[in-house]
Amino acid sequence: MGELILNEHYLTITFRSREKIKTKGSIAWDCNEKSLDGFSPETGWIRIDLTLLFHIHRVYEIKRKKLQSLASKKHSIRSILAKYSRREKNRAKDFVHKLTKEISRDFKNYVHGFEDLRKKNMFNYSKEHNRRIAKMNWKMITSFMSYKSRTVILNPKNSTRRCSRCGKINAPKGASYACSRCGLRINRQLNAAVNLYLQMEGLSPSLRLFEELMKTWSGFTLTGEEADEGSDELERSPRLMNPKSYESLFKTT
Ligand SMILES: [Zn+2]
Repeated sequence: MGELILNEHYLTITFRSREKIKTKGSIAWDCNEKSLDGFSPETGWIRIDLTLLFHIHRVYEIKRKKLQSLASKKHSIRSILAKYSRREKNRAKDFVHKLTKEISRDFKNYVHGFEDLRKKNMFNYSKEHNRRIAKMNWKMITSFMSYKSRTVILNPKNSTRRCSRCGKINAPKGASYACSRCGLRINRQLNAAVNLYLQMEGLSPSLRLFEELMKTWSGFTLTGEEADEGSDELERSPRLMNPKSYESLFKTT
């Protein structure tokens, strides 16, 4: 038995658990506008499609715009708008609940790492509106995950700019990350997820370590050539989870 805490209304008895929870490993998640990209050496690259979540917000955005264009301040319209907002929120919540439940179940006993969103300087190139939605979704995902699994918060500094193989800071452009020093060419989100994984484990990037982590995974090149990121994605990450097609993925096998 641990501490006893007594106040006016109740007594709290705390227990110390002697049982250590065995963890299988760590998965670091890079939050992106339309996907959640995870990496661990045991699972490889896990990409979860968030398009549906964005679609939910988009649908209600269009509905609201239509209504607002009627340019009326009538009470009825205000209440419909409020109803839309509630529905949008509920649908997004529902999606994130299912998503985080699935992640927690499929990657049971893993510690999940998420970036500290307060420090994350997001998408300079994207519209303010999308940025706001992305932030809202990630906050929800991170917070729901923390109820269902063990989570840690990571520092996002340089996670997208650092080369996960040699450590050089590059300025990535587009979907592919190319390192000007070691020649690594890799999906940009995967590079970020590997960097976050290294941080979780207290490791620094090195050529040997990269080789070790990526031993069983493909989808990148070391010569600056275009990486074949699409064709073997299913093979490389059998856990590819697109909540939309998740079921059908399993039905066909
Ligand atoms: Zn490099």
